[in-house]
Amino acid sequence: MTTPASRAAAPLEAIIFDVDGTLAETEEAHRAAFNEAFGKFALNWNWSQDDYRHLLKTTGGKERIGAHMSDIGYEHTGSQPLAEFIAQLHAHKTRLYTSIIDSGTVALRPGIAELIEEAHANQMRMAIATTTSQPNVVALVKATLGKDGMDLFEVISSGDMVRHKKPAPDIFLRALDGLGLPAGNCLALEDSFNGLASARGANIATLITPSIYTNQDDFSGAALIIPTIADLAAGHGGSALAGLVACHKASQAS
Ligand SMILES: [Mg+2]
Repeated sequence: MTTPASRAAAPLEAIIFDVDGTLAETEEAHRAAFNEAFGKFALNWNWSQDDYRHLLKTTGGKERIGAHMSDIGYEHTGSQPLAEFIAQLHAHKTRLYTSIIDSGTVALRPGIAELIEEAHANQMRMAIATTTSQPNVVALVKATLGKDGMDLFEVISSGDMVRHKKPAPDIFLRALDGLGLPAGNCLALEDSFNGLASARGANIATLITPSIYTNQDDFSGAALIIPTIADLAAGHGGSALAGLVACHKASQAS
């Protein structure tokens, strides 16, 4: 039987990172890539920041394109099946996005690089759980953490590997399975309502650093909400990892 005392004893063994908005403020690069891809496919669409804030409620790029089509009552007239058209449009958007990321113009958020370095030095296990597709993850990690950056993460659980994207818990459950750890030994880092719902659905305590597109989200149920990981480190003698351990411990006791 699990008692409150035994839960409190579960140590933090792994950090599970969301990517977009959590590792880096990538959403503006995604928006630019979507808009450029629409032009290439002769679609007269141009998503504003307000449009994109609304569309981010739908997770996954292909799903987001579909949500926009529903919003505007888009009627598909080409001979190609609609799903195939969306897949091609999305594949082109992904190529544009990765070229923006490869250019090095999108940086990690404050404190993230230092946290990853500190976690690695202290044998803290790390995983990724994201609705974005694998090429996007690889591009960002290599551009910001170096060509061997992917080796820092033991498990990559990404959008196209599961049936149900966030806010469903599937992506986090797959990450737990890959790590071989119970939820109680992990802490999720997220920036959005959908991410929080997904992690909490998998029973993982969640620390939130709101991003530019999610700062109006409802974060009820988060273990901690703090502007950036750099702020967390500042509150723990310069150690973000100490901050995460404290956050995890507090979540276990509550
Ligand atoms: Mg996110």
